[in-house]
Amino acid sequence: MDESITEAHLEAIADADPYPYWYEDADEPDSNPTLVRTISADLCVVGGGYTGLWTALLAKERDPSRDVVLIDSRQVGSAASGRNGGFMEASLTHGVANGQRRFPDELAILERLGLENLNQIEAAIGRYQIDCDYERTGVIDVATTRHAPSYFDELREDYAQLRQLGQRVELLDREAMQDQVHSPTYIGGLWRKDRASLVDPARLAWGLKAAAESLGVRIYEDTKATGLERDGVGVLIKTPLGRVRAGRVALGTNAFPPLLRRMGHFIAPVYDYCMVTEPLSPAQLESIGWLARQGLSDISNQFHYYRLTEDNRILWGGYDAIYHWRGEVNPDLESRPETWAILSRHFFETFPQLEGVKFTHVWGGVIDTSTRFCVFWGTAMRGRVAYAAGYTGLGVASTRFGGEVMLDMLDGRRSEATELEFVRSKPLPFPPEPFRFLGIQATRWSLDREDATGRRNLWLRLLDRMGLGFDS
Ligand SMILES: Cc1cc2nc3c(=O)[nH]c(=O)nc-3n(C[C@H](O)[C@H](O)[C@H](O)COP(=O)(O)OP(=O)(O)OC[C@H]3O[C@@H](n4cnc5c(N)ncnc54)[C@H](O)[C@@H]3O)c2cc1C
Repeated sequence: MDESITEAHLEAIADADPYPYWYEDADEPDSNPTLVRTISADLCVVGGGYTGLWTALLAKERDPSRDVVLIDSRQVGSAASGRNGGFMEASLTHGVANGQRRFPDELAILERLGLENLNQIEAAIGRYQIDCDYERTGVIDVATTRHAPSYFDELREDYAQLRQLGQRVELLDREAMQDQVHSPTYIGGLWRKDRASLVDPARLAWGLKAAAESLGVRIYEDTKATGLERDGVGVLIKTPLGRVRAGRVALGTNAFPPLLRRMGHFIAPVYDYCMVTEPLSPAQLESIGWLARQGLSDISNQFHYYRLTEDNRILWGGYDAIYHWRGEVNPDLESRPETWAILSRHFFETFPQLEGVKFTHVWGGVIDTSTRFCVFWGTAMRGRVAYAAGYTGLGVASTRFGGEVMLDMLDGRRSEATELEFVRSKPLPFPPEPFRFLGIQATRWSLDREDATGRRNLWLRLLDRMGLGFDS
C-alpha cells in the first residue's frame, strides 16, 4: 500500500458502507415485474440508465401513440446513472479541449447544442416535477500544488477559448479561488458558471422512470436482453423468460457486454469510485467556505471531482480508473478498498481542516470509455437498431442528447445533429487483448507521470499523434 496513507486516512473509511449513498433514499421506487411472455412494441429500449430513459421519454413526447417498452437487466438506475457524482455538464465532448482537438470545425455548434440539451433537461425536471436537488451552480476546474505548475497555464488557455465562445467564465487566481473554497493546495481555478448543474443522480433516474411511465412507457426490470434477431420487418429481442417483438430497438447498455459484437471494439469498461462523508457541522463548513456550492474538479489527468450534497456532506470521487483484463464487468469490482484509501488521503491533503471527518459510504461503478472520450452512435439491421455509447464518465447530461440522436436515427429524421461529423463518425477501435489491457495500463501510468512532471512521455505523444491522446 502507498506509504503516505496513514492510520487516520484508514480510520476515516473504516465504518463506511460499501453502497452508493444516493440509494439511501425513501424515494426509491418499487421494482417492476420481469418480462415472462412475448409482447410487441413499436420501440424497445434496452437499458434503464439515462440513455434508455431519455430515449423512451422523448419517443413518447414525439409521438404519444407510439408503443414503447423498456427493459433493464437489473433495476432502472442501478448502474452508473444511479450512482454517479451528479455533475451535469453541458459539454457533449468531454470538455472543450477534447472537442477542439477532435471536432474543431463543429465546436461552436456542439457547445450550443450542449447548452440547449442542459436547458432541456432543466425544463423536463420542472415539467415532470422531478425532485432531484437540481442546482445550477456551475463547476470550478481547480489547479493545485499537487500537480505540475504548467496546469494553471492550461486553465488560462481554456479561459481564453471559452471567452471566445461567448461563455460565462471567470478565471480565479490563488486568492480569488481561496475566497470561494479554502484549501492550502489551491493555486487557481476556472469557474464555468452557467454550463453545469448538480443533481441527485438516483432521484433523477427514478424521476425519469416515473415520467416515462406517466406517458405510457411499459418498463420491465430484472429482464436481460440476451440476443437480437431480425424478425420480419422488425427485431426480436430475447430475454430469459420472454421476448419482445419490436419495430425498432434503441440500445442504451453503456459499458455492459454489448448485444452487437461491433460495439465491443469501440468501448472499454472502466471502474470509477466515489465516497461520501458524514454531514459537515456548521463549523466544519465554515472552515472550507464553499458558499456558492459549485462542483469542483481538479484538472489533472487523474482528476478528482467533489461537491456538496443537499445535506452538506462532501462527495469525493475520481482519480483511479481501473480497467480489468478482457474488460470484465462484475458487481464485485464495484468495491476497491485500495482506491478508497488513496481517495481518503487525497481528501485530507486537500482539506486538512476537516481532520476527524468520517466517510459513511464508499462505492464504484462502471463507465464506458471510448477512444474519443465522448458519445458515438451507430445503427445495425438496416437501421432498425441504434446505439449510443462511449460517454467516458461524462454522461449525466450528454445521455439525453445521445438518446435524442438515437431516436432521430431510428425515425429516419434529419436534424442539425445528425448532419454533424461528431454524430456520423466513429472512434478508433481499441486493439484486441492483450494489447488493449497493456495499452490502457501504459496510458494510466504515463498520465500519472504527466500529472507529476507536466511532461507527456513518448507513449502519450504517440497516442496524440494517432488521435488517441487524453488530456483532461
Ligand atoms: C462512480 C461514477 C461517477 C460518475 N460521475 C459522473 C458525473 O459526476 N458526471 C457525469 O456526467 N457522469 C458521471 N459518470 C458517468 C455517468 O454516470 C454515465 O455516463 C451515465 O450514467 C451513462 O448512462 P447510460 O444510461 O448510458 O448507462 P447506465 O447508467 O450504465 O445504464 C445502462 C443500463 O443498461 C442495463 N443493461 C445492460 N445490458 C443490458 C442487457 N443486455 N439487457 C437489459 N439491460 C441491460 C444495465 O443494467 C443498466 O441499468 C459517473 C459514473 C460512475 C460509475
